[in-house]
Order: sequence, then C-alpha cells, then structure tokens
Amino acid sequence: MRTPEEELAEIRARGLWRQVGSFEPVPGSMECLLNGQRLVHWASNDYLGLANSAELQGAFAEAVGRLGAGAGASRLVVGTRPSHLALEEELAAFKGAEAALTFSSGYVTAVSAIPAIVGKGDVVILDKLCHACLIDGARLSGAAIRVFPHNDLEKLRSHLRWARRQIDARGRILIVAESVYSMDGDFGDLGGMVALKEEAGALLLIDEAHGVGLYGPKGEGRVEELGLGNRVELRMGTLSKALGLAGGYLCASRAWIDLLINAGRGWIYSTAPPPAVAEAARCALRMIQGSEGARRRALLWENVAALDQALGRTGLDPSPIRPVVVGEAEAALAWSEALRHRGHHVPAIRFPTVPKGTARLRVSLSADHRLEEVESFARVLRERGCFGD
Ligand SMILES: *Cc1c(COP(=O)(O)O)cnc(C)c1O
Repeated sequence: MRTPEEELAEIRARGLWRQVGSFEPVPGSMECLLNGQRLVHWASNDYLGLANSAELQGAFAEAVGRLGAGAGASRLVVGTRPSHLALEEELAAFKGAEAALTFSSGYVTAVSAIPAIVGKGDVVILDKLCHACLIDGARLSGAAIRVFPHNDLEKLRSHLRWARRQIDARGRILIVAESVYSMDGDFGDLGGMVALKEEAGALLLIDEAHGVGLYGPKGEGRVEELGLGNRVELRMGTLSKALGLAGGYLCASRAWIDLLINAGRGWIYSTAPPPAVAEAARCALRMIQGSEGARRRALLWENVAALDQALGRTGLDPSPIRPVVVGEAEAALAWSEALRHRGHHVPAIRFPTVPKGTARLRVSLSADHRLEEVESFARVLRERGCFGD
C-alpha cells in the first residue's frame, strides 16, 4: 500500500505542494497580514468589497441576533425558514426567472444539480476550462461526458451531433459553461452556445460565479446583460464572490427547481445554510441592485482600466480577473514570492486548477483597491518583466 508520505513527496517534487497559511485581512482595506508581513492582496473574489461593508456586516449580525446561529436541520425537514424562501423569491425576481433554489455553496450547487438533471443514457458537454465543481457534477451524474476546447463552437457543434445519435427519445443533452472564466477572466461565447443548443434541442447551464453582481444594469449577470435570460434553462451562480457571503444558487423554471428539490442530493441531504446568511444575502442583493452596487461597480471598472492601462494590455474582456500566466509551477511560485517581497500578495495558481504549463498569478481586482495601490502594483509587475517591457 502506498503511504500518504510517498504521495506528498511526489506532489512536492512536481512543485504542486499546497499548504494553508493564516490570512488576516485588515478591515476596510485590501491590505492583509500574512505571517506578520503587511501586504496588499490581489486574490480575493469579493470584487465589490461587500464582505467588508458595514451594511452587510450589520445585516448579518442583526439576523444572527434575531434568528439564531444555525438552521438545525436540512431544508426538507425543519431547516427551511422564511428567510430562505424570501431569498429564493428575490433571487428569481432579480434574474427574471420563474424560481430559484439556494445551496450551501456554489460547489454543492453544481454537484447536486447536474446529477439531478442528467444521468445514465444522457450526455453532458463541457467547455474545457469549466470549474472543478462542474466537472465533478458531470462525473457524478453517470452521463456520457464530452469536452470541447475553450469556446470552440465548431467542436461543440460536432459533439452535439454525436450526442443526438447517442440518446433516445427521453434522453437529455446538457451543455455546461461559464459566463466569465474563473482563471482567465475571459467571457464564454453565450450567444453562440444558445444558438447551437436551440438547434440541437439541448439544455444549457451557465455558471455565473464571476458574473453575478458585476454585469447588466443591476448586476444580474452576463446572461441577462445579453438579453438571454429566458433562453438559458439553468442559471447557476454563487453568493460567495461579488455578493460577499457564502452559498450557491440555481435559477430555472418551477419544474426544474421542483426536480432539484426532489432529486438534488447535495441539497436534500445537507443542513440548510444559517438563516442569517440568507438574510445577509438578501441585503447583498438589494445593495448590488441599488446605487451602492452601481457605485462599487464603477470603482471596480476604474481599477481594472487603470491596471490594463499601466500594463499596456488592450482588448481583454472586461472582468476583474487579470491573470499573469507564467508557465511552470516553480516559476509561478518564484514570481509570487518576489511580489511578496515588494509588498503584494498574489498566490500562484497551478495544476490541476489550471492546465499544466500555464501556472499563473491570478490577479483579481476589487472596488476596494485604491488607485495608488493599483499603480504601484503595476509598477512592480512591469519591473519584474511580466509584460516584456
Ligand atoms: C468559485 C466557483 C464556484 C464555487 O462557488 P463556491 O460558492 O465558492 O463554492 C463555482 N463555479 C465557479 C466558476 C467558481 O469560480
């Protein structure tokens, strides 16, 4: 039998060793304390700074006082509170969907929803750069899996032709993709995928983990910004990123949501999220739809534009994710270390989170970064020769 020590030694030898560090954000800023060193960090998904906001913290604290700490049971037992139902109603209204269901995390949303939607005899087709939870959900489902190169619609079209031959009259084909890719920050070709899935009679699930809160007039997401809301059957997202909390959701027709309530194992067999989280999420939803959300989005886009300009990068899809692809895992670690010496914290992202040979610094921006911080960070990146000038 191989020992865990042997396995760990192999992981180390490949430059893929991971360990947890204790990370202490400095409230009200993008600074942090890391092993006693004060650094500006560029790795959070709290794009609008809501996790840091007095409004959200206040709503959370007030709700804990009023509703208690934990939910005490799963949703179908005695775990569903008025707070969960109100959040789901408001999420559905926000996205212009018939219904919504919330989960403990985005990860759990995918691994619960995908196996409830497809199974043996069905086909699931994923973009190559889909997040781990989407891949895991597809594997867990037992459906036949096909993968197309990132945004390669011709390959998607040929997979769809193949899939049509595989399934019988009751069979389903599900396409799974993201609106904004988590490690590259580029957009999925939503219009192209919608056209193809309609032609093929397939279903489409779009994960808006990095889209919700940021795009569309009220932060609804990329799908709604493009006016495709009623043409994407399954709209998934998370409360853990721009909404500043924890949890996931799926918006769909009433029938799909009812199917998940009856067959989504990660939803059925897990304790309901604390009702205070649902109340705080309602507050976050109000914030992103109102003037505070608009103000924070404007600050975020200013920061993104400032970084792109300082680095001379043009033509990128507008997103807060601005990776610096380094290549080998060890090199990415060395760059991360060098930046740390200059006062900036950007963890190296390596295989299997990103493909081999594309290890990177996944730089992400927040509304809470100050322009001076963005400029000083860009200077350090340029000095490191990250952009060849
Ligand atoms: C982060 C992420 C998730 C998981 O969401 P959590 O709420 O953090 O579990 C799902 N999909 C994508 C694309 C993500 O980036």
